[in-house]
Amino acid sequence: MKISHIDHIGIAVKSLEKASEFYTRFLGCKPAGKETVPDQKATVSFFLFKDTTVELLEATELEGPIAKFIASKGEGIHHIAFRVENIEDTIAELKAKGVRLIDEQPRTGARGIKIAFVHPKETSGVLMELCQHFTKE
Ligand code: ZN
Repeated sequence: MKISHIDHIGIAVKSLEKASEFYTRFLGCKPAGKETVPDQKATVSFFLFKDTTVELLEATELEGPIAKFIASKGEGIHHIAFRVENIEDTIAELKAKGVRLIDEQPRTGARGIKIAFVHPKETSGVLMELCQHFTKE
């Protein structure tokens, strides 16, 4: 298993507009993109930093994971994503070690990357995302 770095930090927000303003107005960052990810029932905005990205997630549906997260825990860090070289191999290796996964097959996340979530029971309550990009950034 090869983990290169923390790829991004996903933050669940009630309002993308309001949360983005902190990064643009106060930190002077430029948004690197915005897209709706139907699979996650969320709209996502990105802010790129040197080796990592902040991913702001706003729910598009009340039944989605972001809406449920905010309803139970409030706004805040939703997940931490680790970039891996090969997600299929990583999933297979973790399964072989008996690690509980939410996704036993990779799915497509924002920016077209392959992602899979590890069960938070395995990671001290932190939702961990594994992700594989197709280009080196
Ligand atoms: Zn993510």
